[in-house]
Parts: sequence; C-alpha cells; structure tokens
Amino acid sequence: FPLEFEQALPILQQITTNGYEAYFVGGSVRDHLLGKAIADVDIASSAFPAEIKTIFPTTIDTGIKHGTVTVRWHQRNYEVTTFRTESGYQDFRRPDHVTFVRSLLKDLQRRDFTINALAVRADGLVIDEFTGLADLQAHLIRAVGNGDERFHEDALRMMRAVRFSSQLDFRIEAATFASLIKMAPLLEKIAVERIHSEFVKMMLSPHWQQGWSQFVSSGLIQHTPFFKNRSAARPGFAQQDAQALPDETSVWLLLALAMNLTYQQTQQLLRQWKTANQVQQDTLAAWNFSQLLKQNRTLTASELYQADPKMLQRLTAVGANLAWQTDFRQLTAAYQQLPIKNDHELALNGGDLIQQLGLKPGPQLGQLLAAVKTAVLTGVVENQKSDLIHWSRKRLRDMI
Ligand code: ATP
Ligand code: MG
Repeated sequence: FPLEFEQALPILQQITTNGYEAYFVGGSVRDHLLGKAIADVDIASSAFPAEIKTIFPTTIDTGIKHGTVTVRWHQRNYEVTTFRTESGYQDFRRPDHVTFVRSLLKDLQRRDFTINALAVRADGLVIDEFTGLADLQAHLIRAVGNGDERFHEDALRMMRAVRFSSQLDFRIEAATFASLIKMAPLLEKIAVERIHSEFVKMMLSPHWQQGWSQFVSSGLIQHTPFFKNRSAARPGFAQQDAQALPDETSVWLLLALAMNLTYQQTQQLLRQWKTANQVQQDTLAAWNFSQLLKQNRTLTASELYQADPKMLQRLTAVGANLAWQTDFRQLTAAYQQLPIKNDHELALNGGDLIQQLGLKPGPQLGQLLAAVKTAVLTGVVENQKSDLIHWSRKRLRDMI
C-alpha cells in the first residue's frame, strides 16, 4: 500500500471491527493502480452516516444527505461515504436523491467508468466487478454498463470521459464513444459551471490535445457555450507540438488566438463560459499584447511595459502550441531589462510633483507623470528621485 492508504487503513479496520464493510474507492484506487500520485483517499462503507459517527470520535457532517461524513484521523480528513444508488435523475442532471444500500456492488454500479469503479479492501484485495483492471491495462475509458443510459442519467459524465482521456492519456472505448456522439446534445442540460470545471481540467492536463480532439469529434463541442453557435470555429492542434498550459487563462488565450477571435469575441467566449473576473482580465490583457506580437517587429520599451512575467509565461506556452515564430526567450530577456516593471517602481509620484514643483492635481500632472515614465523606460533619465525631479522641472518649462 502507498503511504496515503497505510495512513487511512485504521479507518477501514475500525469500521470493519464494528461489523460493517469499508473500502478505498474512486480516483485514489485508480491512480494508485496506475502508479500515479494519489489525491484524496475516498472511502465507501456499508455503514450509514449515523453509524460512522458513533464509531469515530471526531467527524464533520460534510454531506449527510448524500451519505458523506468526514472522519478526522491523525490530523487528516477522510471522506467516508455510505454505499448508495442514485435514483430520480431529473432532466439529465445530478440525482435529486440518493438511496443508501448495504451492497458494494450496487455502489460500484452507479459509478461512471470502469476504471473509477474499483474498490480495495483493507487486506489489499481489489474488487473488480466491471473490467476495471483490464481497462486500466488497456488504457480505456469505458462506461459502467450501458453508455447511452449512463450519459442519459447524468450528461456531465460525457465531459468527464474526455477529461479522463486527456488526464490519463487513455482512449475512449468504441461503444462508449458511440454513446458520447449519440447523447452529446444532453450536455446542454448541464450547468455551465460544471462543464467549465471538467473542460478546464481537461485542457490543463499534459495530453490536452487528445481531450480536445475528442471533445470536437464526439460533437460535445457543439453543445457547449460559445462554440455551439460557430461551427466554423473548431481549431485543431498538432499533437507533436504539445506543450502543457500553465493555467486556465492560458487555455482561453490559446483558444481565442487559435480561432482568431477579436477582442469582443474573446470577451464573449469568457463570459459565456462564466469564467472568473480575474481570468477574463488577464486573458484580455494578454490578447491585447498578442496583437503587438503579431506585427512581427521589435517592441518599444513602452509596449513591453504592458506585459508582466505571468503574461509572458502564458504567451510562451500558447505561442509554442500555435507554432509562432516569436522568440519568447529574447522577449522575456528584453522585458527583464526594463528599468521599471510597474507604476509603483517609478521613483517619483504625483505627490512629489505637487510638493516639489508646486503643481496642482489635474491633466497637466498626469501628462507630466506619463512623460517621466516614458523617459525612464527609454533610458533618457535614471529612475532616481532627484534626477526625475530635475528632469520634470525642465520638461515643465518646455511644456509651458
Ligand atoms: P479526480 O482525481 O479528478 O478527483 P476522481 O475519479 O476522484 O478523479 P471525483 O469527481 O473526485 O473523481 O469522484 C470520485 C468518484 O466518484 C469517481 O471515481 C467515480 O467513481 C464517482 N463519480 C464522480 N462523479 C460521478 C458521476 N458524475 N457519475 C458517476 N460516478 C461519479
Ligand atoms: Mg477525487
């Protein structure tokens, strides 16, 4: 057992000692069997939430309605979820209620993919009811049971299929893929926020081109925000130039630039996918800067000043995926040479100009400050207060 399971083993044992069943389940089992690092250890048990709470001294009611109790054990939290079936799927979304059951098999049956439907007992026995082990070996994403039915129950599973394919570098098994194609329109019933979350996970994995190409070829793309109204916009990406994207902003930037979107269209893309405000701001700022790069000339210091290290990092990754000729190493070096990187680094501010030159707040002050900044950036004057005051005084005389 890996350390994460070792540490959680006493929880399984405690539950078993009290006469119930308990297993490691879900993503941690899958990732462990693949030899990957484990995220959260999830535990499934035949004990009901109230029963779990009598077994452990410290628990938190995380999602009692869904059967989940968090057990605190040696400064760590573990989610223990009662075996359940999901019934009453409404409108192809999450079930409106769950039914607790005492059978592990029933619990595994409601899970999305065979590789996510494995369970591990405290003695190490792997319970594999749905060819999960074989599919792990064969690198296949296969729906548990009938794909049509499973995607009909919960259409988000279709996004999860392409997401896992991308994260694990697995193929989607043929019948499951056929179900994706058939059921794709149901994706429109799912809240944008939930599609967004799976989509970003897909795009931030090393094999995002694989996820993207299946997202396109399955037709899922046609039922997602923004893309659904533009059948022409289906950028393809060359697999061999694969370059991982550092963050969500880079994802949107890549798509906007690959589709040659205007500023307004990029804004629409971001809004329709309900991205966070900061992501929107950063993507649009980088979009603006990318337009300068398109001109294929050496940028002035004032233009370079509009960048920031994060933006350059994003553009470097995006540019690599789009086979841009821009020399980002040189660009970044030139940026680092700038005497100041932001307004706060300027050794002179409006207050100084008011005090030292007797100026009043207003347009003239703003103009003068801008001129000072440009002078510093272009190396006309050093970024030192006394020098800048001297330079400003002279400049002010010229302005009048
Ligand atoms: P990750 O590493 O991204 O957390 P995960 O497999 O743990 O991957 P979770 O969303 O944390 O994914 O879900 C935990 C488990 O719950 C899954 O492995 C799967 O068995 C089950 N599951 C999650 N979402 C669904 C769903 N929409 N339909 C069916 N089963 C699901
Ligand atoms: Mg998980």
